[in-house]
Amino acid sequence: MELNNSEYSIQGVPVTDIANQFQTPVYVYDADKIVSQINLLRDSFNGVNLRIKYAMKSLSNLSILKLIKEHGVDLDAVSIQEVQLGLKAGFPAERILFTPNSVSFEEIQEAVSLGVVINIDNIAILEQFGDTFQGTVPCAIRINPHITAGGNAKIQVGHIGSKFGVSIFQMSHVKKVVESHGINVVGLHMHSGSDILDSEVFLMAANVMFDCAKDFPNLQFIDLGSGFKVAYKEDDIVTNIPELGKKMSAAFQEFCKNYGRDLELWFEPGKFLVSESGHLLTTVNVIKHSPAAVFVGVNSGLNHLIRPMMYDAFHNIINISNSSAPKRVYDVVGYICETDTFGYDRKLNEVRVGDILSLENAGAYSYSMSSNYNSRFRPAEVLVFNGKPHLIRERETLEDLTRGQVDIFANTPILQEEVSTED
Ligand SMILES: *Cc1c(COP(=O)(O)O)cnc(C)c1O
Repeated sequence: MELNNSEYSIQGVPVTDIANQFQTPVYVYDADKIVSQINLLRDSFNGVNLRIKYAMKSLSNLSILKLIKEHGVDLDAVSIQEVQLGLKAGFPAERILFTPNSVSFEEIQEAVSLGVVINIDNIAILEQFGDTFQGTVPCAIRINPHITAGGNAKIQVGHIGSKFGVSIFQMSHVKKVVESHGINVVGLHMHSGSDILDSEVFLMAANVMFDCAKDFPNLQFIDLGSGFKVAYKEDDIVTNIPELGKKMSAAFQEFCKNYGRDLELWFEPGKFLVSESGHLLTTVNVIKHSPAAVFVGVNSGLNHLIRPMMYDAFHNIINISNSSAPKRVYDVVGYICETDTFGYDRKLNEVRVGDILSLENAGAYSYSMSSNYNSRFRPAEVLVFNGKPHLIRERETLEDLTRGQVDIFANTPILQEEVSTED
């Protein structure tokens, strides 16, 4: 989003025009930002065979998936439904990595039948996989390197108490299972968590993986997951991608030399690719003065963007409608009947009823985590592509809220007439 002559715009389209055309609340994504993030990642790695597997759980609209596909990016799916969505978006099965946790073996079999790359994250499933497919179906193994990283406890997934991956300390057991079943392990995978700042942490984890790789002679790739941190506010420290790329490329080249073959290096960014592209536009319904604060109540809430409440995530808030006014301090809250504060003590250009507020970094884990709580409709989604806003998902309607419900009382009265039992 750019500010010129007190007007905010995306690819030259005034943001207030987008709000008028599509109404609020609405999610707006900037395709150029997504593409520039893809290019930044790709350009930072040199002399290695890099594959990017977009973590589609962060934002899974079909138009976004197709945009990403056209730029040579593959998918990381965490459920069979995500796999099906990916296929629907036109990704060939072999470009989809399936990384589930705690799913049934039936779901894994279904993924195998669809032809996607399977990533296995526990020994019991690995044994079952070996029994069933006898080495005819290749797979990857998700390893937990036990490196504690990530912005907060809920998004740390590599630590010792994490449910994810096979512990690095169980690798000799894994090796026995693999050898006795003749399992064809073509990839090693890790994902240590979101919001890792330090490229040294990545390198440390990578070295753990490189070490493991010695025991697996058929590898085609090493997947280092994700966790790239992006800016949520001005002056935020972010993962230095060019620096990481430079150091990691060198380390990976060295690893390949020792391994004896050139492997592919995979990453699975979600947040990094789409977070900053997204803006949730809301309209101010109410301004309420309380003894402690001035509340700005908008026509959205934790049903549309739950990250501030669930993770204490900071989402920058901008008053799109009054950019040259002096700043005042507000608490921005939602309209849900539960405390849903988007931001405390935020300095915004003076807010008036009817103004459009934009919640920033609303690309990743925003729409995809939305709900119908309070029986509210999910918002529309708009993609600004080639200088034009396009509707990529309609706002929900009452029909969406009742779809699938079975009204057992439609034709039957709830209170039956009491039948007389006198005889
Ligand atoms: C969620 C997830 C990612 C993406 O994490 P980001 O922080 O959004 O980049 C990557 N890999 C796996 C296995 C995940 O579960």
